[in-house]
Amino acid sequence: MSLLIEQQVSLTSFNSLGLKSYAEQFTCLETREQLPDLLSLLKKDSGPVLWLGGGSNLVLAEQVPGLVVQMGLAGLEIIEDRGELVRLRVGAGEEWHSFVLRCLKLGLHGIENLALIPGTVGAAPVQNIGAYGVEVGQFITSVEVIDTHDNYELKQLSAAQCLFSYRDSIFKQNFGRYLILSVEFCLSSIYVPLLKYDALVNELKSRQIDTPSAAQLIDAVCAVRSSKLPDPKRLGNVGSFFKNPVVSGIQYESLLVVYPDMPSYPDQLGRKLAAGWLIDRCGWKGKRLGTAGVHKDQALVLVNFGGATRSDIEALADQVKTSVFERFGVNLEQEPQSYP
Ligand code: FAD
Ligand code: NAP
Repeated sequence: MSLLIEQQVSLTSFNSLGLKSYAEQFTCLETREQLPDLLSLLKKDSGPVLWLGGGSNLVLAEQVPGLVVQMGLAGLEIIEDRGELVRLRVGAGEEWHSFVLRCLKLGLHGIENLALIPGTVGAAPVQNIGAYGVEVGQFITSVEVIDTHDNYELKQLSAAQCLFSYRDSIFKQNFGRYLILSVEFCLSSIYVPLLKYDALVNELKSRQIDTPSAAQLIDAVCAVRSSKLPDPKRLGNVGSFFKNPVVSGIQYESLLVVYPDMPSYPDQLGRKLAAGWLIDRCGWKGKRLGTAGVHKDQALVLVNFGGATRSDIEALADQVKTSVFERFGVNLEQEPQSYP
C-alpha cells in the first residue's frame, strides 16, 4: 500500500485535549514497506514534520504547518528468551496500555505500574513515561530510529544513548529529530511489585490485598487513575500539564516554615514538590476560564470543556504558573509539548 497524503486534515480527534487544529498535510505510516516512500518525501521537501502517536502529550496550534506523520507500525516479537529475562521488540504504533496487558498475559513483569497511560509504545521513551515510582526507561534496552539529522539513517540507540531522566530523554531534548520505529524492552518472568505510593497502597488495603498478583496490581493502578484523572474521551486533557518542580534544600526549608503540611519527596537534585498541591493551594482546583479549566479532582490537569484552542489553554496555564510563582517562588515547567 502506498503512502496516502491528505490535505487540511482535522486533528481534533487525534489530540487528547480535543483542541481545534488542522494539519496542512497528514499521513499515517502503517507498514515498514511504506518507509522508503516516506523517506524520499521527507528528503525532497524540507518543511516541518510532526511525529504523532496518540496525541496525549501534545498542545497543538490551530494550524499545524507542513506534514504530520501518524505512527501506525504494529507488532510484538520476542527476540530473546533467557528464562528470567525476556527481550521484546514492539512496533511504535502499538497502544501502550494494550502492550502492558499483553505482557501480563505473557507472564512478563516490570511495567504494571505504568498501566492505563494513554498513547503509543513509540512515544513512551520520548518523555520516559512514569507513574507510581516506575519509569519506562528502566526496561528499555534500545530504540530503533530514523535520524533525520544524519542523512535519514536507520539507527539503534542504546538505553544509555537515550539519556533517560525524569520525564525526559534525548528524543524530548531534540524535538522531531528522531522518528521512533520500534522499542526493545527487557522484562522479567519474576514478578516483584513496587508499592511505594500511598494511593496505590491504600487502594490495595481497601481491597484487603497485602501482596497483589500482577493482575491485581494493574487493576488497582487502573482504579486509582480512573478515580481522579478525567477520561480524555469525555473531557479533553493531556494528563499532568506541569512537571513536579525540584527545589533546593534551602528553598524547601524556607517553604516548609510557612507551609508545614506541604508534601515533598527526596530527589537526587534537591526536594521534589507536588505541583498539583501548589496549584490547589493557589485556589485553582475546579476553576474555569471560558472553555478551559483546572480539573476538579486533580489540579495538575488542565481540561478543555469543549471548543478550546491552544491560546485558551495557554492563557490559563500562564495564569496558573504566575500565581504559583508569586505565592511560592517556584517555577512550573510545562510537561506536554506545544507544537509548533
Ligand atoms: P503524542 O502525544 O502523540 O506525542 C508526544 C511526543 O512524542 C511528541 O513530541 C511527538 O512528536 C513524539 N512522538 C510520538 N510518537 C513518536 C514516534 N513514533 N517517533 C518519534 N517521536 C514520537 N505520562 C506519563 O509519563 N505518566 C502518566 O502517568 C501519564 N498519564 C496520563 C494520563 C492522561 C489522562 C493523559 C491524557 C496523559 C498522560 N500522560 C502520562 C501523558 C502521555 O500519555 C504520555 O506522554 C504518552 O507517552 C504520550 O503518547 P502519545 O502516543 O499520545 O504521544
Ligand atoms: P499522587 O499519588 O497524588 O502524588 C502527587 C505527586 O507526589 C506525584 O506526582 C508524585 O510524583 C509524588 N509522589 C507521591 N508519592 C510519592 C512517593 N512515594 N515517592 C516519590 N514521589 C511521590 O499523584 P497522581 O497525580 O495521582 O499520579 C500518580 C502517578 O501517576 C504519579 O507517579 C504521576 O507522575 C503519574 N501520572 C502522570 C501523569 C502525566 O501526565 N505525566 C498523569 C497522571 C498521573 P511523580 O509524578 O514524580 O511520581
